[in-house]
Amino acid sequence: MTHCIALPRQLAYERQQGCCYYCGMPMWLRSADEILSRFDLTERQAKLLRCTAEHLLARCDGGDDAQSNIAAACHYCNRGRHARKRPLSPEKYSNLVRSRVMRRGWHSDSLLKLLPAPHFPVRTTIGRHSCVPLSEITQDSEEFPAGTAQSTVIAR
Ligand SMILES: [Zn+2]
Repeated sequence: MTHCIALPRQLAYERQQGCCYYCGMPMWLRSADEILSRFDLTERQAKLLRCTAEHLLARCDGGDDAQSNIAAACHYCNRGRHARKRPLSPEKYSNLVRSRVMRRGWHSDSLLKLLPAPHFPVRTTIGRHSCVPLSEITQDSEEFPAGTAQSTVIAR
């Protein structure tokens, strides 16, 4: 990470109230202690929640470091999106992750147990990208078979 990305990352972190753009979990920006002091996590778990700058439009597709192209995402979600052979669009990935989170099929159970319910601070628009309200999210597409048959409805 270079310096030029540090500021947009921090601004996105603040705009999202410190929560991941995709999974809604709390993140840390400068030191893992920020989160280790709040939750009873292991250092390994804390590493997954490091705040990273997520390029909504990837750099290789012409995306830049402009504020409107940067969201704050935890290391786990950021890595997951770009690990795909053809990364999903931010909207699709966001919907996939959120529906998984609500069914507790994202992050490990042991991690989720230690964290508060997901907080999705960015419900509307980041730059040119918009998100579908959670109520419109139904099932994962066939491309992403559910890891578990159990589906859990989480009350508000
Ligand atoms: Zn995340």
